[in-house]
Amino acid sequence: MDSADIKPERETVLHSWCRQADWRAPTIVGGEGALLIAQDGRRILDMSSLAECSNLGHQHPKLVRAIREQAEQLCFVTAAWGAEPRAALAQALLEKSGFDGGRVFFTLGGADANENAIKFARQAANKPRGKVITRDRSYHGASYAAMALSGDARTRAQVDAEAFGVIHAHPPYAYHCPFNSQTESECGELAALEVATLIDDAGAGNVAAVLMEPNAGTNGIVAPDNYWPALRTLTRARGIYLIADEVMSGFGRCGEWFAWQRYGADARPDLMTVAKGLTGAHLPLGAVVLSAEISVRLEHEMLYTGLTYCGHPLSCAAGVAAIAAYEEENLIARSRALGAALFAELKKLQQRHALIGDVRGGHGLFAVVELVSDREHRTPLSPWPQAHPALTNLLKSAMEAGVSFASRGNLLILAPPLVISEAQLADAVALLDELLAAMAAELA
Ligand code: PLP
Repeated sequence: MDSADIKPERETVLHSWCRQADWRAPTIVGGEGALLIAQDGRRILDMSSLAECSNLGHQHPKLVRAIREQAEQLCFVTAAWGAEPRAALAQALLEKSGFDGGRVFFTLGGADANENAIKFARQAANKPRGKVITRDRSYHGASYAAMALSGDARTRAQVDAEAFGVIHAHPPYAYHCPFNSQTESECGELAALEVATLIDDAGAGNVAAVLMEPNAGTNGIVAPDNYWPALRTLTRARGIYLIADEVMSGFGRCGEWFAWQRYGADARPDLMTVAKGLTGAHLPLGAVVLSAEISVRLEHEMLYTGLTYCGHPLSCAAGVAAIAAYEEENLIARSRALGAALFAELKKLQQRHALIGDVRGGHGLFAVVELVSDREHRTPLSPWPQAHPALTNLLKSAMEAGVSFASRGNLLILAPPLVISEAQLADAVALLDELLAAMAAELA
């Protein structure tokens, strides 16, 4: 079909996570590093790695080559057959995560990785309908069971979490601590204590797993440093599996291969789910990484799971090349260094702009800027999860200036590709500085 014969996308495609009538986005035809190239020739600096997934930037040459070479050799066999890139990627994942003697189950993305992690935890624990504890204001995917796992105000009405055996704990949201604590560590401690209480109230024999993001939160909550280690201790003490959702936080996003690694080997979860950065979004792929103990338990169990394209050889070849790229280009350490620099710059912006109530993150290239209407009282600019029109205007102006920022409610989420240059990062911060001043003027 000729380009000229293709109708505008908004007339034929149903787009996700938006009102169809509002959908206005440029058509992207190419990419290079942290830049996206639009059909009209505009170059857009991607400050969110699209959906926090393009950790390696766009059109990474090593990945493009690996996909092409694999396609020339073999495009597809189902997971009923062996495929060399699948075995290579599983081995690399086990090595990077230190899950010695464990196994990897491949999925198509993050949501089905989380759903399968729950299936495996329930099966290994011999609790077929065991409850799962996640937290409010979390996001674990948009398929039905993953929506039930998510504590997401936007989708809550569509799914009965209780029917899926999910219990939501309060989040360790220190800036608006649900337990009214005065310090971050107290908030982390009390939030973890609540998880312990929820397990004890349900009875440990009825709970299969706790599933949480270890540090960075998709919906803008960054857990205090004592939270994940406390979850590890309390789940271990009660014989409950701990599942780390590393779909967004993995592959350097939080300055480590996987965010839990910041807390040391003792903080290792029993299962870990990954996607996004696994292929740097060059092809769809997710995975569940299982501990040796769970793998042994499942060895003689029948696994009633797996989608047709699980562990697709093209995606696995992309995954192998992605891990090589992170390593060869030293991108995990780069994320740590640039993340610290970005965090420091955002803190300087906070001093200049009363609109910025809180800046959090900074362990790797992931930072959250929370906007407020009254800093002293920490009054949110808009009630969660609504976006204030002035923030919508800021995002629009940023796009017109060639920078794409992500937002959730009244939060700006900065998570650029780990290959972003220092100059590009500085340009984005300078633009944000300008646009925040304009936003303050608009609100005055
Ligand atoms: N878990 C987390 C923490 C995520 O951020 C996401 C996606 O944003 C998912 C799970 C779902 O992943 P996917 O969209 O690949 O199904």
